[in-house]
Amino acid sequence: MPTLFISDLHLNGDRSPADKLFQQFLNGPATQADALYILGDLFEVWLGDDLIPPEHQAAITGLRRLTDGGVSVYLMHGNRDFLIGEDLARQTGCTLLPDPCTINLDGTPTLLMHGDLLCTDDLPYQHMRRQLRDPSAVAAFLQKTPAERITYAQKLRETSREETGRKHDYEMDVNDDTVALYMQQHRVSQLIHGHTHRPARHALSGGGQRLVLGAWDSGSAQIARCDEHGCRLETFSG
Ligand code: MN
Repeated sequence: MPTLFISDLHLNGDRSPADKLFQQFLNGPATQADALYILGDLFEVWLGDDLIPPEHQAAITGLRRLTDGGVSVYLMHGNRDFLIGEDLARQTGCTLLPDPCTINLDGTPTLLMHGDLLCTDDLPYQHMRRQLRDPSAVAAFLQKTPAERITYAQKLRETSREETGRKHDYEMDVNDDTVALYMQQHRVSQLIHGHTHRPARHALSGGGQRLVLGAWDSGSAQIARCDEHGCRLETFSG
C-alpha cells in the first residue's frame, strides 16, 4: 500500500472547501495508505492545544478515525501551526515529526520538510522565524490568555500579508543552493516539501528529485503518492 504526502491544507473550519476536501481525503485515499505524512500548515492558524476551536473537531475526529483504522499518520509543523503540541498528537493518534526529518521510503532515503527553511532569499522572514520559534518565546506565548493570543496572531497575519505583497517572486520560493545543501547534509536524493504553493516535480542534477506539494484552497490539491515504483505527484479533487 502507498505512502501519501500532503501539506498546506490551511484548514479554517467545518465549512471551508479545504475542510470538505480533507474529509473526502480521510474517507477515501487515506484509508488505502500504509502511512500519511502531513508536512505542515494543516491548520490556517493554531494558537495552542488548549485553545482548539470547535470548528476543527471534524478534522481531529477524522484523523483519529484514520489512525484507529491502522494508518500511521505523521505530522510536521508548518509556519502557521507550529504550536501544535503533544496533546493534539495524542488526541489524533498522530506522531509529531521534526523539520527537517529523513525517512527511508521503499529504499530511497528521503528528506521531508515543510519548506519555509528553504526560502533563504527572504531574510526578514528567516529572522522572524527564528524569533517566533525560540523555545522561550513559544513558552511565553502559550502563557498568554486566549484573547491575547488571538489578537497577537491577527496582528502577525496582517503584517505578513502586507510584507508578502511587497516581496519579489524569487523571495517567495526556495533557494536552490539551500536545497542542495540540505540534501547533501542529509545524504538524500529525494526531497518532499510544501509551503511555497508551487506544486511541481523538479528533476535534480545527479538523478534525484524534489517534489513540491500543493495547497488545498482551490477545490483540489497536488499530493505525493509513493510506492515501490517511486514517488509522484497526483491531483486529488474529491
Ligand atoms: Mn507554510
